Amino acid sequence: MEKDGFFKAIVRPTVLGLKPYSSARDEYSGGGDSMIFLDANENPFDNGVNRYPDPHQKSLKEEIARLRGVSPEQILLGNGSDEVLDLLFRVFCEPNKDSVLTLPPTYGMYSVLAGINAIENIEVPLTSDFQPDVPEILESAEAHTKIIFLCSPNNPTGNSLDSDRVIRLLNEFPGLVVIDEAYIDFSDADGYVPLLDTFPNLVVTQTFSKAYGLAGIRLGVCFAAPEIIAFLKRVKPPYNVNELTQQRALKALADPEKIKMEIGKLKAERLALLEGLKEVPFVRSVFPTDANFILARVDDAPLRYRQLINQGIVVRDRSSQMHCENTLRFTVGTPEENTTLLNTLTALDT
Ligand SMILES: *Cc1c(COP(=O)(O)O)cnc(C)c1O
Repeated sequence: MEKDGFFKAIVRPTVLGLKPYSSARDEYSGGGDSMIFLDANENPFDNGVNRYPDPHQKSLKEEIARLRGVSPEQILLGNGSDEVLDLLFRVFCEPNKDSVLTLPPTYGMYSVLAGINAIENIEVPLTSDFQPDVPEILESAEAHTKIIFLCSPNNPTGNSLDSDRVIRLLNEFPGLVVIDEAYIDFSDADGYVPLLDTFPNLVVTQTFSKAYGLAGIRLGVCFAAPEIIAFLKRVKPPYNVNELTQQRALKALADPEKIKMEIGKLKAERLALLEGLKEVPFVRSVFPTDANFILARVDDAPLRYRQLINQGIVVRDRSSQMHCENTLRFTVGTPEENTTLLNTLTALDT
């Protein structure tokens, strides 16, 4: 199918007919500080945040575009990537009709969002080495399956998905392939943003919540073809990224060395924690990771989880997830926190 036809065929008919909310500020921006704004019923006394934020997040998108080597038209920003993921459902999936496909064990929000949006979630488990089962996925996808969600590096397993398999899905699946790259900055791989121009059905999501150390500001990023971004913009609330968030993210982007330094430290700590965990007597195996967390199989996950809580350390018990029996997920903390964790684990009754 040619490109334009593809975009029109996958979007919900309702969205195709929508016009986005437009404010007077949209039509008359550009005059800058010399303008008198009496259009939006704001309080006129300046306190830094008395005005509505830029609904297009122009400055922030320009910086992110520069950082990732794309154009601002290929970017949509959201209130965390959770909002971005929700928008993908609302724009492309018709309630009670369309479906999505996910690969457990993976991030829990995809199935939660599917439920909220009344979309069937077809689950095709990852193989036992946590890789996509491509033939099974293509077999299980139905005519109304609009989106496949891939997470790479995957949460909670930590591994990156094999790129040959991802490319095969991009080539052969007729809907959108969303790749959630929340942890991409902890990986040595480039991720899939460089392939946006090759695959019109590719959508990549990233977040400021992990490597950028800004979980509290809620900023998620979606990279896709300009046509897809334009559809998402029709549905997004106009002021979904607030002024404080935009300012704080710009400040972080202005100091790339700081982020790089922190990522370097966390990767070194990840290795130390990985080695340390292997020495803990009741740890059965430690899974390889490209993220800022480590999944480990222990003798009795609920027991070890409770023992750690009693020692004031909170980790995640992932035992209920497919292929994850008796596993705990450890986030890489500060050097002091990781040392305390390892000392505490080693001192637990075995
Ligand atoms: C943490 C995480 C996110 C982040 O979501 P935000 O809403 O941006 O904080 C997204 N995807 C995965 C797989 C995650 O683990």
